Amino acid sequence: MSAAGYPIDLHTHSLRSDGAYEPGEVVRRAAARGVRILALSDHDTLAGVADATEAGAALGVRIIPATELNTESDWGDVHVLGYFLDPADAALEERLRWLRENRGRRIELMVERLNAHGYPVALERVREIAQGGALGRPHLAQALFEAGHVPSYDEAFVTLIGKDSPMYVSRVGLSPLEAVGLVRAHGGVPSLAHPRSMSDVEEKLPELVAAGLAGIECFYSSKDPAIDHDPAQTARFVALADRYDLVATGGSDFHGRGEHGAPLGGVEVPPSSIEALEARRGRYHDAPLEGAR
Ligand code: AMP
Ligand code: ZN
Ligand code: FE
Ligand code: FE
Repeated sequence: MSAAGYPIDLHTHSLRSDGAYEPGEVVRRAAARGVRILALSDHDTLAGVADATEAGAALGVRIIPATELNTESDWGDVHVLGYFLDPADAALEERLRWLRENRGRRIELMVERLNAHGYPVALERVREIAQGGALGRPHLAQALFEAGHVPSYDEAFVTLIGKDSPMYVSRVGLSPLEAVGLVRAHGGVPSLAHPRSMSDVEEKLPELVAAGLAGIECFYSSKDPAIDHDPAQTARFVALADRYDLVATGGSDFHGRGEHGAPLGGVEVPPSSIEALEARRGRYHDAPLEGAR
């Protein structure tokens, strides 16, 4: 087994949402690449955390429980990572279930539109691809590729189900401030994922910080040049983290599907990120922000 990756990865997805591998398999692959601390951050669910933790215990990989909340607003794509949330928190699970139900309805609506516009695709097939995971556009993209409507998985996001496509249906869910508030209300540590997908970060950041944002994903890499961080982008976000006293987080956004995200452990994250996250965890766990739901 060759350790070709960096030891810390704080952003990954499994079959519990739109990744391609079982949580335990994500951990095994991460371990094989030399990852020692891994956050499993499936969209709107903590369902993979137990399996990941079990696999991690056998392989010497520490698992940080996490989720990624994709929000709806006119601020571009704002995704909020929530670290150190508790899978046994029933009130949180109720909110996550509501988000997952809305995810499912949104995909159903997109399937209806696609069927009405000459791109027949079966909702049953989309559900099969998801294998019980929280439904998302990646599952739909794969079904559209299989049906021959697009030349590749990634192309589906460009021509058929991207934000500018007439088949696109916007999300019913949390606003960016609500997502930050939800994580804080449950004692977790919220970090702004791939900040370049958001518009006007510098302008909006103070509002997010006021709502309880605690981190920003400074260390990130993507084949998509619109959200990739070159060294200057990384420095820009590290400077923002310093200015607003945010933890500088980072990760691969590994999905194992298409070209989205980097390989496991493919992004260098400094050990100081973990120490800073831990410090927030202690503080927030003892005193969760009141008022947010
Ligand atoms: P959804 O949450 O259903 O809107 O789907 C969003 C997810 O689709 C993101 O979290 C990514 O995993 C994936 N995604 C978004 N844009 C692209 C893209 N251009 N290429 C590949 N995957 C994408
Ligand atoms: Zn995803
Ligand atoms: Fe994301
Ligand atoms: Fe992600």
